[in-house]
Amino acid sequence: MVDEKYISRIVENVIKNMDVAVEPDKKLKGVFPTMTEALEAVQKAYIQYKSYTVEQREKMIAAIRRLTLEEAEVMAKLGVEETGMGRVSDKIIKHQLVANKTPGTEDLQPIVKTGDTGLTLIEMAPFGVIGSITPSTNPSETVICNSIGMIAGGNAVVFNPHPNAKKIANYAVDLVNRGILEAGGPENLVVSVYNPTMDTSNEMVKSPIVRMLVATGGPGVVKMLLSSGKKAIGAGAGNPPVIVDDTADIEKAASDIIKGASFDNNLPCIAEKECFVFDTVADSLIRNMQKNGAYLLKGADIDKLVKVALIEKDGKFGINKKWVGKDARLFLKELGIDADPRLIICETDAKHPFVQVEMMMPILPIVRVKDIEEAITEACKAEHGNRHSAHIHSKNVDRLTAFARAVETTIFVKNAPSYAGIGAGGEGHTTFTIAGPTGEGITSAKSFTRQRRCVMVDGFHIV
Ligand code: NAD
Repeated sequence: MVDEKYISRIVENVIKNMDVAVEPDKKLKGVFPTMTEALEAVQKAYIQYKSYTVEQREKMIAAIRRLTLEEAEVMAKLGVEETGMGRVSDKIIKHQLVANKTPGTEDLQPIVKTGDTGLTLIEMAPFGVIGSITPSTNPSETVICNSIGMIAGGNAVVFNPHPNAKKIANYAVDLVNRGILEAGGPENLVVSVYNPTMDTSNEMVKSPIVRMLVATGGPGVVKMLLSSGKKAIGAGAGNPPVIVDDTADIEKAASDIIKGASFDNNLPCIAEKECFVFDTVADSLIRNMQKNGAYLLKGADIDKLVKVALIEKDGKFGINKKWVGKDARLFLKELGIDADPRLIICETDAKHPFVQVEMMMPILPIVRVKDIEEAITEACKAEHGNRHSAHIHSKNVDRLTAFARAVETTIFVKNAPSYAGIGAGGEGHTTFTIAGPTGEGITSAKSFTRQRRCVMVDGFHIV
């Protein structure tokens, strides 16, 4: 067990010296004043890294996993401190998930074909230097998760983190390098810049040193990378609906939805963001959600909350960025209500902006529907064809299948909190880069490799 006081002292110190992340003289490992320097350094590191064995890669990854677990609490606190978003306790869990469930080199399975004409071997080879753009919502989690997968694949990485989360993202870059060096790896295998901007992003994207690009964020960044002319992985926005029908275990559905939708104040792109419930069980679901820590908002207070959380322009609603990932109690305080729930719930119609806009706030609109057809139609509309994530609570297999087929999302969770879809309480590995638009899905080391084939004719056989 790590001593609580010790952690608080580290956090206090780091926060006091937060400017360390933007002051080039107080050097963080792998972080450079300019993108040009970062690119030169990472290119050198990649050349050295080519001669490392798979066993050495695994040693480096093991050290990164250990440091991530040791410093999960420090990073969770720093992340909330810098971005003003999310919950420390949930961010600790996210870092633990990254450390424990991001696949390493075991993910790279070669393919062998033998026959009358000899032997063919297909191996998963590195791309080289990968350029990665990371979001403000999971800053250090994405840096560490990407680093483990990319290093496992034999690559080096240059990050251009979200400017609003540069300090915590660069803390993670430093941590990854500390792990690599401790395990005997090369310097600067993972790099970043102190002050990431659109200019540093453009330089990274255009650099001939960078052979592959990965973007985790909203639609703007994914579109930009996909028009770069390079191999790119795009992990874009979602707006996950959850359906509850009249066969569901309503008490469990209510508890699961509250857990998923309130996790890290609804920042995760996979979190339940609007709920469609059969009219016949809606009252029971709402009552059970209240029992599980939700605050039910009604009438004029809902309109007031719209004005706080969203900004209207020319009849269209967008998020008020100031409020993304904030605690539910702060929204309620703004409405003159003194309460500290994990989540605010309210009944709306399907066209309501709370349903249609990807808010990333602890506010869950609930829409009554008459049957599964209406639920699926409205849920698909709210998902906007992102094909990202969708969830359902039902015991009717036909309905589960019908929704999965209609919504076509990368992640589809049945009868569990949304985070089961990234390996928290569900089977399968984790990722913080869910690549729907480009099809890699739940990315892992093999997503960051290219197949290479080696053919030997009439050669080696044992039969
Ligand atoms: P964002 O789109 O504002 O920023 C993401 C990154 O892209 C940042 O580094 C930002 O600086 C950069 N960026 C944004 N527009 C750009 C452009 N036109 N050119 C170059 N760079 C640009 O996202 P955010 O607010 O930090 O994160 C939330 C969004 O990311 C949500 O839409 C969420 O659904 C999505 N997200 C998706 C995944 C996934 O795995 N699919 C994971 C996390 C977040």
